[in-house]
Amino acid sequence: SLKATVLDSNLNIVTSETVRFDSELPHYKTKDGVYRDASVSGRIVSPTLMWVEALDLVLDKLKKAKFEFERVVAVSGSGQQHGSVYWKNGSSDRLASLDPNKPLLDQLTDTLSIKESPIWMDSSTTVQCREIEKAVGGALELSRLTGSRGYERFTGPQIRKLYDTQPDVYCQTERISLVSSFMASLLIGTYASIDETDGAGMNLMDIRTRDWSKIVLDATAPGLEDKLGKLAPAHAIAGSIAPYFVERFQFNKNCLVIQWSGDNPNSLAGLTLNTPGDLAISLGTSDTVFGIASEPQPRLQGHVFPNPVDTTSYMVMLVYKNGSLTREDVRNRCADQSWDVFNKVLEQTPPLNGGKLGFYYKEHEIMPPLPVGIHRYVLDNFIADTLDVKAHEVTEFDAPSEVRGIIEGHFLSMRAHTERFGMPTPPKRIIATGGASANLSILKSVASIFGCDVYTVQRPDSASLGAALRAAHGWLCHGEGSFVPFSCIYKNKLETSSLSCKLSMPTGDKQLHSKYTMLMKKRIEIEDSLVQKLGRI
Ligand code: ADP
Repeated sequence: SLKATVLDSNLNIVTSETVRFDSELPHYKTKDGVYRDASVSGRIVSPTLMWVEALDLVLDKLKKAKFEFERVVAVSGSGQQHGSVYWKNGSSDRLASLDPNKPLLDQLTDTLSIKESPIWMDSSTTVQCREIEKAVGGALELSRLTGSRGYERFTGPQIRKLYDTQPDVYCQTERISLVSSFMASLLIGTYASIDETDGAGMNLMDIRTRDWSKIVLDATAPGLEDKLGKLAPAHAIAGSIAPYFVERFQFNKNCLVIQWSGDNPNSLAGLTLNTPGDLAISLGTSDTVFGIASEPQPRLQGHVFPNPVDTTSYMVMLVYKNGSLTREDVRNRCADQSWDVFNKVLEQTPPLNGGKLGFYYKEHEIMPPLPVGIHRYVLDNFIADTLDVKAHEVTEFDAPSEVRGIIEGHFLSMRAHTERFGMPTPPKRIIATGGASANLSILKSVASIFGCDVYTVQRPDSASLGAALRAAHGWLCHGEGSFVPFSCIYKNKLETSSLSCKLSMPTGDKQLHSKYTMLMKKRIEIEDSLVQKLGRI
C-alpha cells in the first residue's frame, strides 16, 4: 500500500490516508502489490506506474477530505528498499513540465524504459551476485566495502542482470532511481538524488565514504555512475515541491521535499532510534533487529547502512527467519498451544536452563546460515563462571527446558550477533515491537540477557511515521543551517506525542546478566562449530 501520514508540530498524527494496491488499483492485477513471474525463477516485480497512480489517488483522497495542503512545510517518504525504477532517455524534460490539469499517470506512461520494477522479493540474480563478489575480491570484501555481501534483491545485481539480459534497454536508460528517490523525483519535478542510507541497499556504495564505490560500479555495468546521479544524506533537501503540486493541490510553493529513504531506515526513525546503543527488536513472523553503531563490523550475514538520522553513525540490520512461527511450534508441542501455558512454564524454569542450549531452525536460518534442524546441547556442571566446560549433544529436552531453550537460545544468539556487528554492550535501551512484544515473560528474558530496560511500542506503520519525522528533521536542519540531532525534534514530546513508548521490563539482576554473558560465549562457540559443519555459505 501507499500511506500518507500527516504530523502537526506537536508530532501528533493529524490525518492519514491509504491506497491499497490490490483492491483500489485492481486494473494492475497485482497480488500483495506484486507480480510473481511464473516463467522466470525468482522474478518478482511491481508495475512502476501503479505507484504513480497511487500517489495521484492518495493526494486526491486528502483533497476530498479537505486537507489543507498549504499548511505543509515539508514532505518526505519511505519506499520499499532495494526496488528500482528505470527512466527512459529524455524523460527528465517530461518530469519538469507536468501539466497540473492532468493526473501524473497520464503524463508519465511512456517515460520508463522497463515498466516493471524489480523489488525486494526478487531472487533472480544469484549469478550476478556471485560475479560481482568475485570481481571485487570475494563476498566478505563486498560486505566490507558496501555493508552487505551480494544479495539477490539488492539493486546492483539487479542492474547487472538488466545489462546482461537487455543491454539495449540499459543503454536507453538515462537514470536509475530507487523506489524512494523515484517518488521524491515526482514531487520535485526533477531527478532526486539517492539517499545514502537507501543507497547502502544497492551493493554499490562505499559505506565509509558514502560515495559510489568505483570498483563495484565497474563490476556491475558500464557507464553506471552517470545513470545513478549523486548521493545525498537522508536529512538533506531534495528540492522544493514542483509547481504541479502547488497548482493542483495548493501546496505552499516553499514546501520542502526532504530526501526519501527506504522502509527499514524509516522504521528505525519511526521507532525514535538515534544514537549508538539504541536497539530495536521486532518480534514478528520473522524477527528483525535494528541497532545503531559508531564502528560497524560488516560480516557475511546482516547489513550495515548509514544511520538515516545521523551523519556519522551507522544502522545495523539483522534478520532472523525463525521468529514467531518457530516459537509457536515449540508452544504447540510443549505448552498446549497456549501462550499462557507457555509463559507459566517459562517462569517456572530457572534462568540459564541448567546449562541446556537449544538451536531451533524450522526454516533455513539466515543468522547464522544453518539449514532446517534442531540441535540440543547440555553443558556439563555449568555454573556460569568459566568457559572451560564441555557440551554434549542430546536428542531431547523435557518440555519446560524446551520452552526456556527456544527463548534463551534465540536471544543469546541475537545478543552475540549484535555485539559482533559492533553494537555497544549492554545496549542503552531496547525498543520491542511486533506480535510477541506483548509477551512480558519473553521480554523478561530479553531484559536479563541484554542487560537493559525494554520498552514497547505498538506501531504497525512506523515506516510512514518515520518518514514524517524525517521530514520534520530535514526541515529543522534546513532552518538551522546545519545538522541538528534527530532527538531535538521530539525533545519533551515523547510522552505526549504519537511516539510514546512504555517501559515494559526493567533491566533486572546484574549478576544474572553476567552469567548470561558466559552462556552466550559458550553458545556462540557451539553455533560457530555448527556453521563449520553444516553451514550454507
Ligand atoms: P508480522 O511479522 O506478520 O507483522 P506480527 O508482528 O503481527 O507479525 O506478529 C505476529 C506473531 O506474533 C504471531 O506469529 C504470533 O505467534 C506472535 N504472538 C502474538 N501474541 C503473542 C504472545 N502473547 N506471545 C508470543 N508471541 C505472540
